[in-house]
Amino acid sequence: MPTQMTNRPAAQETARETDGAPGMFDGVDLRRLAERIATPFHAYSAGAIHRRIDELQAALAGLDATVCFAVKANPNLAILQLMANAGVGADIVSVGELRRALNAGIPAERIVFSGVGKSADEIAGALNVGIMRFNVESLDELHTLQRLAKAQEVTARAAVRINPDVDARTHAKISTGKSENKFGVSIDEARRWFAERKQLSHVQLDGLHVHIGSQILSVEPFRLALQRVAAFWQELERTGHPINSIDVGGGLGVCYRAGVDRPLAAADYVDVIRAALAGYRGRLLLEPGRWLVAEAGVLLTRVLRVKEGAERRFLVLDAAMNDLQRPSLYDAWHDIVPVADTPRPPATYDIVGPVCETGDTFARARELPECSAGDLLLIRATGAYGASMASTYNSRPLAAEVLLDQGRYAVVRRRQHFEEMIAGEQPARNWETA
Ligand SMILES: *Cc1c(COP(=O)(O)O)cnc(C)c1O
Repeated sequence: MPTQMTNRPAAQETARETDGAPGMFDGVDLRRLAERIATPFHAYSAGAIHRRIDELQAALAGLDATVCFAVKANPNLAILQLMANAGVGADIVSVGELRRALNAGIPAERIVFSGVGKSADEIAGALNVGIMRFNVESLDELHTLQRLAKAQEVTARAAVRINPDVDARTHAKISTGKSENKFGVSIDEARRWFAERKQLSHVQLDGLHVHIGSQILSVEPFRLALQRVAAFWQELERTGHPINSIDVGGGLGVCYRAGVDRPLAAADYVDVIRAALAGYRGRLLLEPGRWLVAEAGVLLTRVLRVKEGAERRFLVLDAAMNDLQRPSLYDAWHDIVPVADTPRPPATYDIVGPVCETGDTFARARELPECSAGDLLLIRATGAYGASMASTYNSRPLAAEVLLDQGRYAVVRRRQHFEEMIAGEQPARNWETA
């Protein structure tokens, strides 16, 4: 871990694709890249991800802290490998993610398992490989963990996920820390778990976990949640329940809209953690997902055609909601810019994909330099919850993913073949009864 702060620019400036000449991303000419790889495809800058990791590690200097990347933000094996090589662990929410993380070389002792719906099989699998910690979200899960750990004759390390009843002031669908949300348990319930801790012969319940939501752009919700967690940690210490691990979750927001979204710098975020948890001597865990990778990714797409509608002008792209769900799912804004060399007059478009849904809209009434068929565009900040949420809706194959690094590129997922898309499907030939 670096021991001194370096003089880094604010978080929002670290990961623009135009680092230097326009159309260049991590030293790669995006137009030339799009001549070699068919659009749409996702491109990720290794350099931009490394800068975020370094910024966070520098801010954490002097703390016993482990950063566990939230795999769901971008589970591509090459991205996880990059995390593994940088000493970053994983926050997983399924056995599929566990297998990806292990496969990419992230050691089990750097893996935490979160989520309200861990199945018995998933818990057993994670116990089997000896992951660092379970973030437990219900009493039933705690009892299941005890039973399965006992059966395997191992001791599971566990943290209780606290629902601190804090409004993260983010989109309702990505808010997780209010008492009405399905996540975590109340401090009152957690207190009872600790009081009955001795009955857990095979669960070492010595951690607290909190994760209040995603795309959070101010320190206040974090401060409030951590203050509640800190008060509870101190109470537990006083009542004979030592806490060895506090997991502060993820949730750090990124810049989706230039000039509007102002993400927190890692140092400011970590200052809030340091202040709230002053005096805490155990291990700190962090689970950032979006902040590490979102702005390191762009979705490259071409204009299929310009359609003059009765009331609006449409830019129809070859990318669609199946490649990037966020606009249709959360009404999310993504900056969209042409990868063009010549200046053109502005025009206003509804920017849409080919999928048969009105929701397949990336932007409404967006001003862009005038476009024509074949133009290359990039949709920014798609490195998190982009490819990871993709589907094959409308029988569109999953897009390719490409990693860029100082002028070089590597395809880290090729475009899905039609045969792969339908693999597993079969005619109803072998009928059985149940
Ligand atoms: C999704 C998730 C994260 C990551 O959230 P980001 O907003 O991407 O940082 C971290 N922890 C848990 C438990 C999550 O569910």
